[in-house]
Amino acid sequence: MNAERLAHFRECLESLATEIKAYLSSSKESAGVVELDTSIGRLSRMDAMQNQQMAMELRRRKKSQLLQITNALKRIDQGSYGQCGLCQQPISEDRLEAFPEIVTCVNCA
Ligand SMILES: [Zn+2]
Repeated sequence: MNAERLAHFRECLESLATEIKAYLSSSKESAGVVELDTSIGRLSRMDAMQNQQMAMELRRRKKSQLLQITNALKRIDQGSYGQCGLCQQPISEDRLEAFPEIVTCVNCA
């Protein structure tokens, strides 16, 4: 991959990382413990807990994506970016365009 393309993917990864960090810091409170407020009904409490669970799941996914992005940026520095972690074949740029943090090629995914 040439330097221009690498710079492009680095930019994608960095802006993704910024987005995720902003999301993680803004969603901290909503993922907190649902207070067992007796003034809300049982159903809305279940709703609140379900929402909380979804928020926590989303945060968990975003965190692991952020880790993958950090690793991808390291691979750019090491010169192994865009190479499949399993078969060592180059990952297609279309695939990287859609998921710049991806580690495997389409055959190994
Ligand atoms: Zn592969």
